[in-house]
Order: sequence, then structure tokens, then C-alpha cells
Amino acid sequence: MASYVAAVDQGTTSTRTMIFDHSGNVVSVDQREHEQIFPKAGWVEHNAEEIWANTRATAAGALANADLTAAEIAAVGITNQRETTLVWDRKTGKPVYNAIVWQDTRTDRIVNELGALGGGQERYREKTGLPLATYFSGPKIKWILDNVDGARQRAEAGDLLFGNMDTWVLWNMTGGPDGGIHVTDPTNASRTMLMDLDTLSWDESIAADMGIPLSMLPEIRSSSEEYGKVRERGALAGVPIAGILGDQQAATFGQACLSPGEAKNTYGTGNFVLLNTGTEKVLSQNGLLTTVCYKIGDKDTVYALEGAIAVTGSLVQWLRDNLQMITSAAEIEEHARTVEDNGGAYFVPAFSGLFAPYWRSDARGAIVGLTRYVNKGHLARAVLEATAFQTREVIDAMNADSGVPLKTLKVDGGMVVNDLLMQFQADILGVSVIRPKVAETTALGAAYAAGLAVKYWESEEDIRSNWAKDKQWEPSMDESRREHEYHNWKKAVTKTFGWVE
Ligand code: ADP
Repeated sequence: MASYVAAVDQGTTSTRTMIFDHSGNVVSVDQREHEQIFPKAGWVEHNAEEIWANTRATAAGALANADLTAAEIAAVGITNQRETTLVWDRKTGKPVYNAIVWQDTRTDRIVNELGALGGGQERYREKTGLPLATYFSGPKIKWILDNVDGARQRAEAGDLLFGNMDTWVLWNMTGGPDGGIHVTDPTNASRTMLMDLDTLSWDESIAADMGIPLSMLPEIRSSSEEYGKVRERGALAGVPIAGILGDQQAATFGQACLSPGEAKNTYGTGNFVLLNTGTEKVLSQNGLLTTVCYKIGDKDTVYALEGAIAVTGSLVQWLRDNLQMITSAAEIEEHARTVEDNGGAYFVPAFSGLFAPYWRSDARGAIVGLTRYVNKGHLARAVLEATAFQTREVIDAMNADSGVPLKTLKVDGGMVVNDLLMQFQADILGVSVIRPKVAETTALGAAYAAGLAVKYWESEEDIRSNWAKDKQWEPSMDESRREHEYHNWKKAVTKTFGWVE
């Protein structure tokens, strides 16, 4: 038996390949950032060929860094930024347009038109678990077919393929135009707005509403099974590809949230809270999404409730890149520590409208509560607090939907190194916040899915026993201050509505 499992993590800002050992420890990593393309206000694109080149390079890099060969890798799993939409030519492998990224809001008109067919924002909720919003892939596919010259005709002729980034990476790894397999898993498919959550198959009537030929959609297989082998060229040549999980579901798996009632929050570009609801599909009454959590081989589908928040860590990036107020993300904590509190300032980063629990595409960002007193430190605090307040809103919604209040929150992602934020998070939630030893839960989750399929790991029990705590934060804010702050935040949110007609 080979000694390690690899995971390709195709994220929003970068692509990495990570290699794990049997205890779930990181043995090697290689990472490359790709360009964020902003052609217009509200538009966000990625160059899919750049992403594929980075994938190949990091696979080679991760092996080289630890002096390993493909023969020592038992399987590779794929995890990816979800919803991001690509259409390419099956014969040449060339994308017909850049990948349209999940944060992109260009489909707002399409989404309104679909709602106007009847049912409004709730039109597809029952089948897909999702409200009509710019976030999801289906309307992005429609935009490409409507706006790229000849695309609809080529799609109808069967020449074009759609995929999220998992499918793009898998298709290329297995040979591209030369025999590449066109497959996705139910976690990714559940974010297209085209999949029926009960049958895990494409819904013909929704695809018809959006004018999307079924022939361009990938086959939906489980999240953990052998799909194919890496083609005989490139670093991981010959290794079975045996797991696919969308990034947030992968983090849930990697955090060992394997029983109903267990939840995690990932703090990256955006924030994503997922609550495992078991084999029962719970439709939200409070602005959350219902999504597939994972499907391991032919076992029953496990579902989740999800609170997706578009802008958290990317607000810190914005401060760094657009305002140049800090030179690194870590610096924000130093500024925040120069003051005791937010000085009355609240920053609602509705840059892509507001996702959960509001789903308002007409919202845009606002900083409120400003006085002559407010300084850079207060603003730095307001930026960090925005992440914690948005998380509180989502957890409140989850508690209301599930009827069982969350007792502890497992956290991961790039922002959880920020101690001030984690303490404020525990304070504003009033529950303990726990960070695991292996913080790379996204890649780890994909590795677990692949490793289970090839019996590198025996069962989900191995995942549980690998999980270990690194640090825990306990709430220390008094109740009246907590509720006062949260009340102000809610008021600030109302100021962001109605900016787009
Ligand atoms: P993704 O997987 O979404 O690309 P990561 O999990 O790598 O993101 O997290 C990166 C995000 O975390 C960035 O948006 C960055 O601004 C933020 N971040 C990184 N370090 C810190 C820090 N010390 N304090 C606050 N935010 C941070």
C-alpha cells in the first residue's frame, strides 16, 4: 500500500496540492495564486487555463518538495471553489469564456427574469434547496450561452461541456480532449441550481427554463469512488482519482462533522457555516441553503444546512489592495489592538450584495456610525467584527431552523490565525470556538474522500480519531454588551439595502 494521499485544492485565490499521511498530517504542500480578473463592477473572472497550469505545477511541486514519486500516492482527491462556472470545447479543450466566479453578480437580470416565470426567489427552492441568486452556476451558464458568439449553437450541437472547477481539473487530469472524463459529484452539482436534491440527477425542467442543453452537463457520481486514473504524463501519472467534494463540504468532512448536529465555519475569502443534518434534507425557513454534505460511495446521501457569507477575508484583502491601509492581512490585528472597541463604527461588506440570511442582490457595502473620533484602529476592528457579526446572523438562522442551539463551533480557514477575531467571535456568539490542529481541513477532507474509496482509510472512524484540538476560545463579553453590539450591527445592515435598482 502506498504511504500517502494527495489532494488538489482549487480555491478562489489559489490552487494547491497537499500530501497527507495516515494520521491526517500535512507531509507536503505547493501552492500558486492565480489572477483575479475584474472586468466591470460586480464581475469576477478567472483564467481557467492558468488554473489548470497551476494545478499541474503544484502537483509536481508537492511531490518534489517531499521527494516523493507517484508510486507512493494511494489516491488523489479534488476539492474546489464551488459554483464558479466554465464552458469549454470538448474537442480542443479551449474555454469559450473565462470562468465566471461565484462572487460575480452579472446574472442579476437573468435571475429576476427566472423568478418572474412564477414563484419569485423561491421558484426552485423545493427541488434544489436554493433561492434564486446570482451565486449559483445555472444562470452563469445561461449568461455564457446568451453572450458568447455561437456558444448556444455549439452547445446544442453537443460540442461544448460545462463544469465547475472540479470537473475542469478532473477532465484535464484524465486526458482532456483525449479521453478526459466528464464527471462531478453531488456536492458540486447541488450548487448549480440544476440538480434535484432527492434524486441527485439533473432536473430537465430547470435546465429547460435556463436554455441549457443536458448534453453539456457532467455525469453526477458519488463523492468517494474511483473515477479514473491520472493520465500517463504529469506528476501524479497513474494515481487513481477517487474523491470530489466542493470546498466547504470538504472542510466539513475534514473537520469530522460526521453526525447530525455537528457544524463548522470556514473563514476564507468568504465564510461558510455548514451544519450536518444527516440523511434528512431540511429546507430552511430562515435564509439558509440546503445542500448535499457528502455521498460516500453507495451509502445514503448526507445533507447539510449552509450559511454562505460572500465577503469576510476578502474585506481584509480589499483594505490591503484597494485602500493600501495595511501591507499584509496579518497587520489588521495589530491595528485593531491599538483600540479597545470599534468606536461606534460598523462596516457591512455587501460587495456582492448580501448572501445568507438576506439574499439581497440590491445591497452594497456601507460603513456607518462614523464620528470625528473614529481612527484606523477602530476601522480595523469594524472590519474584523463584520466577519463575526455575519457569522452570528447565520448561526441564529441555523438555531431557528434546526431547533437545537449550537453549543460549540469548529473553525478553520485563513482568518482563524487571528486571535482577536476568534475571541470576538466567541464573545458575540456566546459559545466556545474550537480550532483543530490540522487547519487545512478543506484539502484534508478531499484526501479523506479519496483515501476511503481506495481503502487507505478503513472508515469514517479513522477521520474522527485523527481530529485533534489546537486551541479553544471561551465567551467573556457580558450579555448586555453582546446584544447591544449585535443590535447596532443589524441596524447597520439595513443601510445597505436598495442601492441597485
Ligand atoms: P480561500 O481558501 O478562500 O482562498 P484562505 O482560507 O486561504 O482563503 O484565507 C485567506 C483569507 O484570509 C484572505 O481573504 C485573507 O485576507 C484572510 N486572512 C489571512 N490572514 C489573516 C489574518 N491574520 N487576519 C485576518 N484575515 C486574514
